[in-house]
Amino acid sequence: MKKDSILSINKMHCTGCGACAKKCPKKCISMKPDKEGFLVPSIDADQCINCGICMQTCPVALQEDKLFYFDKREYFCSIIGDKEILIKSSSGGMFGLLADHFIKNGGYVCGCVYNEKVEATHILTNKKEDIARMYGSKYVQSRAYECFEPIKTLMREGSKVLFVGTACQIAGLRNYLGKEYQELFCVEILCHGVPSPKLFSDYVEYLEKKLGGKILDVQFRNKEKRGWGSEHRTCVIYEKKGKIKTYRPVLPAYFSAFFYGMNLRESCYNCRFARLERVADLTIGDFWGAWAKYQKRFEEGISVVGINSPKGRDILNSIKDKFAFYDLLTEAEAIKSNDNFEHPVKRPLERSSFYEYTTKKGYKGLWKKAYFTHTYRKKTLASIYGVLVPAKIRFALHRKKK
Ligand SMILES: Cc1cc2nc3c(=O)[nH]c(=O)nc-3n(C[C@H](O)[C@H](O)[C@H](O)COP(=O)(O)OP(=O)(O)OC[C@H]3O[C@@H](n4cnc5c(N)ncnc54)[C@H](O)[C@@H]3O)c2cc1C
Repeated sequence: MKKDSILSINKMHCTGCGACAKKCPKKCISMKPDKEGFLVPSIDADQCINCGICMQTCPVALQEDKLFYFDKREYFCSIIGDKEILIKSSSGGMFGLLADHFIKNGGYVCGCVYNEKVEATHILTNKKEDIARMYGSKYVQSRAYECFEPIKTLMREGSKVLFVGTACQIAGLRNYLGKEYQELFCVEILCHGVPSPKLFSDYVEYLEKKLGGKILDVQFRNKEKRGWGSEHRTCVIYEKKGKIKTYRPVLPAYFSAFFYGMNLRESCYNCRFARLERVADLTIGDFWGAWAKYQKRFEEGISVVGINSPKGRDILNSIKDKFAFYDLLTEAEAIKSNDNFEHPVKRPLERSSFYEYTTKKGYKGLWKKAYFTHTYRKKTLASIYGVLVPAKIRFALHRKKK
């Protein structure tokens, strides 16, 4: 096996997009969990013919700029008109609106759902009922690469496909396809990083033991009780003795560790896609600057959207009339509310020991790591404030301060 095979991409940079495994002509690359539970490529050396295709497909190895859009960027914030979808979405429902548009126009959507084992995985569908499973952020790395081949088949048939995922997944997909397709439309969630699938499975297992039921859904950004916000809105849906129940942890350590950036993949702290030029036609996230800009609460959520390509502009023009609220933003306003537009999240000191701790002790003691750390003591206070003080009061205090 060549020295410069895909295994030479080190842990600090491999995003686990899986493009190498899917592109390998000998099918001798498979994605296997590392000790923290993140999927990384593994090669069957006996089968490898040293063709180098894996390296030519890897968006990290290539370090090329050709994946990025350098067009003039525009930004806006929006809220969709369909209240039912809005309440199930994490932000302002931009994804739901786009998915609806594609399905109605005979296209396909590829997005992240939980499977029956509550693992995050991407599916490709043209059915409306599957779209409902995609609503909401699953804060764990999803397996998208199994959809790359079916997407290529659809591209060759001339079908329209909307792919929604992280920038690294989009870069992997575009390199796997190897050419630009007019009918492929990519939307990137403004991602600050992804925790390991193993950590999330441990969390689900812990919840099942604690609640004595089967977990059906983990909604990290449930808006039903406390509206839109970042802090601690986890709502677990589970089945016990034939009844569907909900559980809302007061301080969900898994989400807090994610929010603080403690449990992310090593490559997320070095993410080469967190920069002003993007690899997707549109970028969608939360518009955290909305309170300050409009002096108004947005209880049901509001999206920030970056338009990165001419295709992005076209699609926006065809759905614009479906917004309940829409306003242009300057680049400075968009970035101020979300610095992942510009650079990756900072690696906290605690990241080094985080997975060591959870590998040894499992999920059970995680709250100690999440809440009682040196760097995050201040943030912990902010979180507790977020949990104890309802958004209505926090907003009133924020206005008074101004
Ligand atoms: C891991 C992760 C980190 C994020 N970090 C930030 C951040 O730092 N700042 C910010 O503003 N926004 C962040 N977001 C995006 C934000 O949470 C919303 O997903 C986004 O604004 C879209 O919301 P929506 O209301 O349009 O639709 P929603 O219905 O909430 O969007 C759902 C879409 O997100 C996709 N999705 C869900 N989970 C995953 C996943 N694990 N991997 C890939 N795609 C997924 C689904 O395919 C679906 O297309 C993050 C999302 C994820 C999943």
